[in-house]
Amino acid sequence: MLLAHHGVQPLVVERHSGTAIHPRAGHFNLRTLEILRSAGLEDTVRRRSREQYPPDGGISNVESLAGREIGVFFADLNAGVDEFSPTIRLFVNQDALEPILRARAEELGAQLRYGTECTALEQDDDGVFAELTDLATGARSWVRARYVVAADGNRSPVRNRLGIGMRSHGVLSNSITIYFRAERDLTPLLAGRNQGVHYVTNPVLRGFFRLDRGGNGGFLVVNLVGDTARPEIVAAYPEAPWANVAEGITKERALELLRAAIGVPGMPLVIHDIATWQAVADVAERFADRRVFLAGDAVHVVPPNGGFGGNTGMHDAHNLAWKLAAVVNGTAGPGLLATYDAERRPVGEFTVEQAYSRYVGRVAPYLGTEGAQPVVDDLYLELGYRYDSTAIIADPGDPWPTDGKLPHRHPRDLRAQPGSRAPHVFLNRDGARVSTLDLFDKNFVLLAGPLGAAWQEAAQAAAGRLGVGLDAYQVAGGDEEAPGDGILGGDGNRFRSAYQMAPDGAVLVRPDGFVAWRSADGSRATTEVMTAVLSRVLHREDG
Ligand SMILES: Cc1cc2nc3c(=O)[nH]c(=O)nc-3n(C[C@H](O)[C@H](O)[C@H](O)COP(=O)(O)OP(=O)(O)OC[C@H]3O[C@@H](n4cnc5c(N)ncnc54)[C@H](O)[C@@H]3O)c2cc1C
Repeated sequence: MLLAHHGVQPLVVERHSGTAIHPRAGHFNLRTLEILRSAGLEDTVRRRSREQYPPDGGISNVESLAGREIGVFFADLNAGVDEFSPTIRLFVNQDALEPILRARAEELGAQLRYGTECTALEQDDDGVFAELTDLATGARSWVRARYVVAADGNRSPVRNRLGIGMRSHGVLSNSITIYFRAERDLTPLLAGRNQGVHYVTNPVLRGFFRLDRGGNGGFLVVNLVGDTARPEIVAAYPEAPWANVAEGITKERALELLRAAIGVPGMPLVIHDIATWQAVADVAERFADRRVFLAGDAVHVVPPNGGFGGNTGMHDAHNLAWKLAAVVNGTAGPGLLATYDAERRPVGEFTVEQAYSRYVGRVAPYLGTEGAQPVVDDLYLELGYRYDSTAIIADPGDPWPTDGKLPHRHPRDLRAQPGSRAPHVFLNRDGARVSTLDLFDKNFVLLAGPLGAAWQEAAQAAAGRLGVGLDAYQVAGGDEEAPGDGILGGDGNRFRSAYQMAPDGAVLVRPDGFVAWRSADGSRATTEVMTAVLSRVLHREDG
């Protein structure tokens, strides 16, 4: 969808006959909703979310749905987020979201072939041959592509064929998801807790519920069985049988677990399906191999605690799509593609560690905190990390660490540092209220202060010279309406504080909404400087 949004019409193959059949991912975070907003899907997804879940749900920990509340991880998913984003976090099931993405991808011109498996890949210097097998007929054919994106899931056949290893904490448990319906509404058991995710911690099991809005069903994930809170039990069984609920699971056993998690004896329940899967915390050694780029669970697999898996995959795709499009349409040099691994792998590593820490803290304290990172606020993961690559030009004397560890901060403290996501501020454009984020779409964007007209002109001239899509704006100084063409009005002081910008300074934002470069003042505002900046970020050799 994102490639098609950038004007590249990809061929997508999926071996299943359609989109997801299970709800799986449900929690979608601020950055994901910002990406969906830029693709014109925010309203549709928010509407679908309201049909499935109450808004602003929470995440709590209970002995059972009918039992005691042990604690609350989030009382309200969206408390305090409006300072940072024009959108919200929400719950929507993956099987409801995927058809929305599919429809938009097809509308934008992507070709989707279901029931088709990619059975071989061969790379050379100019492109990739892919063998496709039609699973209904067995017919095989070859297609030629310039690049391949392998978003082929946690078992990633492409990653395995390329010999790319995974490392970190490995398999944590053989878990199950029980999809069920209850004869009566379960919401009265929640005693007013807003529905979202309910972790269950009792001597029979540890896992979590996501209930449908009607309260008559949903699913229960079971990660562990037995009383793992008792150190003498944990010490007696080093092979951890409690972490292997999937092995030999039957409907009868699943029903027992479901009843123990609901906490109402004898309640009539129907189990529709039981999915078995492994909770894993691992990241790939490389995210790319020449012309093949890997994204999503193919390169980072996390336990679902925190709801990061699907979100992080979409963020990978968003990082990669504009780069591939720029290289394919000739506005960037191929070197830009190497920045995908440099930017996304550290984020993958950070996310895997944070998901592992949440798994240990929320589900499996017996694993111990040694080797687990301290948990940071979700905002750091969604909006607070900073890329360090050759598609970013750091400030002179930049104090951020570059020792391979991903720098991350609270988004309030980032202040448009190169490599970070450009902050959200509401402004006025042609009489309409827009977020700065709404300006970042297919083009580069230059934002200059009220005395930054020279930057605006220089950027436009440089972009014209290089044939690069770029929109340049000045942001007016005070509280005024937009006073002219190419000038944004609104709270100029707030803008300059969020972007830490002098009145004659400027910031260059990439199409993915990350800051590529900035200038503290107007002393170097020339076409030559802007040409050099754009050329360097885009890995052009003609700059
Ligand atoms: C119980 C549960 C709850 C979760 N909750 C959340 C949550 O709240 N938030 C969140 O962000 N994430 C969540 N996740 C994780 C999320 O579901 C995954 O991270 C996400 O589905 C990964 O997407 P993907 O496209 O990378 O891989 P997948 O969804 O695994 O898709 C890969 C696809 O590639 C296809 N494929 C593989 N090989 C080939 C081939 N050779 N040819 C053609 N097709 C191929 C497969 O058929 C598959 O459909 C949850 C997961 C579980 C199990």
